[in-house]
Amino acid sequence: MASSTTDLSGLHPHNEPSVQQSDDAAGYYELGEALVDPKAPAGLIADRWTNRKFDNRLVNPANRRKLSVIIVGTGLAGGAAAATLGEAGYHVKSFCYQDSPRRAHSIAAQGGINAAKNYKEDGDSVYRLFYDTVKGGDYRSRESNVYRLAEVSANIIDQCVAQGVPFAREYGGLLDNRSFGGVQVSRTFYARGQTGQQLLLGAYQAMERQVAAGTVETFTRHEMLELIVADGKARGIVTRDMVTGAIETHTADAVVLASGGYGNVFFLSTNAMGSNVTATWRAHRKGAYMANPCYTQIHPTCIPVTGEHQSKLTLMSESLRNDGRIWVPKNVEDCDKDPRDIAETDRDYFLERIYPSFGNLVPRDIASRQAKYMCDEGRGVGPAVKEVGPGGEEKWVRRGVYLDLTEAIERLGKAAVEEKYDNLLDMYERITGENPYEVPMRIYPAVHYVMGGLWVGYDLQTNIEGLFCAGEANFSDHGANRLGASALMQGLADGYFVLPNTIRDYLAGGPFEKVAEDHPAVVEAQAAVQERVDKFLSINGTRSVDSFHKELGQIMWEYCGMERTAEGLAKAIGMIRDLKKEFWSNVRVLGSADSLNQDLEKAGRVADFIELGELMCIDALNRRESCGGHFRAESQTEDGEALRHDEEFAYVAAWEWAGDSLDGAKPVLHKEDLIYTAIEMKQRSYK
Ligand SMILES: Cc1cc2nc3c(=O)[nH]c(=O)nc-3n(C[C@H](O)[C@H](O)[C@H](O)COP(=O)(O)OP(=O)(O)OC[C@H]3O[C@@H](n4cnc5c(N)ncnc54)[C@H](O)[C@@H]3O)c2cc1C
Repeated sequence: MASSTTDLSGLHPHNEPSVQQSDDAAGYYELGEALVDPKAPAGLIADRWTNRKFDNRLVNPANRRKLSVIIVGTGLAGGAAAATLGEAGYHVKSFCYQDSPRRAHSIAAQGGINAAKNYKEDGDSVYRLFYDTVKGGDYRSRESNVYRLAEVSANIIDQCVAQGVPFAREYGGLLDNRSFGGVQVSRTFYARGQTGQQLLLGAYQAMERQVAAGTVETFTRHEMLELIVADGKARGIVTRDMVTGAIETHTADAVVLASGGYGNVFFLSTNAMGSNVTATWRAHRKGAYMANPCYTQIHPTCIPVTGEHQSKLTLMSESLRNDGRIWVPKNVEDCDKDPRDIAETDRDYFLERIYPSFGNLVPRDIASRQAKYMCDEGRGVGPAVKEVGPGGEEKWVRRGVYLDLTEAIERLGKAAVEEKYDNLLDMYERITGENPYEVPMRIYPAVHYVMGGLWVGYDLQTNIEGLFCAGEANFSDHGANRLGASALMQGLADGYFVLPNTIRDYLAGGPFEKVAEDHPAVVEAQAAVQERVDKFLSINGTRSVDSFHKELGQIMWEYCGMERTAEGLAKAIGMIRDLKKEFWSNVRVLGSADSLNQDLEKAGRVADFIELGELMCIDALNRRESCGGHFRAESQTEDGEALRHDEEFAYVAAWEWAGDSLDGAKPVLHKEDLIYTAIEMKQRSYK
């Protein structure tokens, strides 16, 4: 990497680079050189993006036609990028594994998208959105990126309105908005409980317009299984046609991965069943650094697990915390009563009690942990589920807290509540058989989003030249905890506004030499994919792919979930290595390679999840501090709040693949210091 760094001359850094004293993960990793973003911007924070856009080189329209970009992913990040780069005149090849770009997981997003519009005149501003996001992320994000995100947030809403996205409007016709966790202003724009769907339709239509114009070519049901790196630059991908099984190579001048998040490493999550890590993990194995992999978001308001046979968890949007009050019984003996029979004085509205300023709208990490504590104390509600403790002991615990709309219905009327949340409440009733207008809903935290992902610099380029990464797939702007309604904002900011300006600078370095089909890098990548497919089908063991995935998920949830300890993480690493060994000798993949084969697809994804899970545990073990979604039991305040150690850990942990741990290889840790000039790091408080 180049040795330039953010030019802080004339600015006043609020902190010094951290110096790590503890080394819980000693023996599991090697320490590499410090990492510096060669594209880190200089100057005052408010000018950085404007200056970068101007400084980045231009490509004239005639030359754009000669340049090509592969985009893996058609969610909000990939769809928006394809539409915008196509509109600019580049030749875009867009890939997704679904049968239509429109089915990307972004479609599931319910609650809303943030923007610093200050329509309510309640004190919002670009700076406040920036501040809330850095604070919400527990001071583990890069301030330049977050400021840019806040700055472009308002453009996103304008762009989407122009596309016809039907955002909710007030009686007078103006755009409505509501509040999400971790903030005290109203800045979340929404389309009932279907915001992701409506935004995705906007991006999809814009992309399809370019398909018709001939600038964007779409490849649906194509799964990227390898990255092609030729002469040090990302120049293409290898895909498997999921219908015919054909292994194909595709080359271009640059590659963008917008392949979404990897929450399904936990098996049970709110992500779509197909969400996986393969695209980014294959790039990681080719040299791209994976940053902060252990930062996972556990969302407080999901429908609780009911038994051992579930393969999916369902989110109840955070927007419900605007009007729903969260409580558990004060007395353990009331936990199996009908909640309507529990007197007001016997209810503990624990978030309102512990955090009077933010109440039910504390950030997700905090709300999730408190819900867990209430259930650990024995005050959870709903059916008890079997849990296996660290020593293998079985126990039965009620894992649920109430989310109660009664007061909102009394205050606003049932019709108003229905208008805001009807599809969410219908979904709840369909899944649980309980009517949320009459009985308080039961919710419990579940894995929902990952803040970790491929390391990218300010220009969203990874450490591999020509490989860019956008949306949830990159390590993103959210630090150790993402605020609600900020993922859609980030995905669309990356796709519509950031990438088109930054990739342009890279493409201006063209024309690039063509990479032929017989280039050794292409031949090697294609052969590697074929060999892997053949290997999966030849093992012919006794265990199903799903059984491995489920076991991995149980290990991850138990030891690298809501609360982590050094002892548990070390144990998990050993268990995952054993699982990996067994997978490669005993997995049974049914069917053949030359047709639709979901078992084969899953095998590749689960093999990558196993390697990722191991790295997540090493990353979590190394970080002996609690920050955001990463709660290390060894590092907490007297009242159980997360305790950061800025003097040791104010860095991005970027991991380099060094080979398989079963062959004795250890990942290499590169640290990128987080230096704040615009915001001072503080212990978070929402009280
Ligand atoms: C239930 C739910 C509700 C949510 N609600 C909100 C909300 O209200 N507000 C908010 O801000 N955020 C919300 N989020 C988070 C947000 O939806 C996601 O973070 C965001 O949509 C991710 O967008 P993306 O474009 O990065 O990826 P995705 O939408 O996940 O798209 C990934 C794309 O990559 C493709 N892909 C992946 N791997 C491969 C491969 N190997 N080969 C080919 N193609 C591949 C897929 O086909 C897909 O097209 C929610 C998340 C969930 C789970």
